[in-house]
Amino acid sequence: MVQKPSLTIPLAFKKKETDKRARRVKSRRSKLRAMARGQQKIQSQQKNAKKAAEKKKGQAADQKTAAKAALVHTCPVCRTQMPDPKTFKQHFESKHPKSPMPPELVDVQA
Ligand SMILES: [Zn+2]
Repeated sequence: MVQKPSLTIPLAFKKKETDKRARRVKSRRSKLRAMARGQQKIQSQQKNAKKAAEKKKGQAADQKTAAKAALVHTCPVCRTQMPDPKTFKQHFESKHPKSPMPPELVDVQA
């Protein structure tokens, strides 16, 4: 009664092992194929590196644009949008001298 399951388990284990070996052979074959394409791969890698560098540059520019966009200040009194706090403060001081200065403008050197 106890022997039956102990017979099926090693069989299942053996099958698993065979699958593993087959997979290993497959990966070795694909490695060989990759080596044959090596030269072509290097060239395309160089191309990709160049492309990636250009992409990186573009991303940096995007980040700068995003940072600039984040700096858009909206006047709480007249809803005018200004690109930087300096302009905002100057605007606020000249247009709304009687309104209380927004706290984020108090420290700004205009
Ligand atoms: Zn305003």
